[in-house]
Amino acid sequence: MPGLYLHIPFCTQACSYCDFYFVTQKTLIPAFVEAMCREIRSWKGGFGASPVETIYFGGGTPSVLNREQLEAIFNAIHETFEAETKEITLEANPEHITQEYLKMVCDI
Ligand code: SF4
Repeated sequence: MPGLYLHIPFCTQACSYCDFYFVTQKTLIPAFVEAMCREIRSWKGGFGASPVETIYFGGGTPSVLNREQLEAIFNAIHETFEAETKEITLEANPEHITQEYLKMVCDI
């Protein structure tokens, strides 16, 4: 049962107690998303016929990604792997979670 872990290493602020890898330069997000999509596509055929069943966005703070960036990542996943996704997890900053954000994520 293949699953994908996608590390989104961007945070709004640096928490002094944090041991995860993160950066606060959000101007790097577009280039990072482009590189992540290239990396995903480089794995074509990597799981054979086994479908991807789980996708986990960890961080950092994955909820810093906007609709266009999330769509680009999902498009790369769907172009690269068989997907029978049973579970998608996205770590989030509670301040980012509005009805609009949840609707946007569910619509993708
Ligand atoms: S990953 Fe979480 S705890 Fe670590 S710096 Fe980012 S927001 Fe703070």
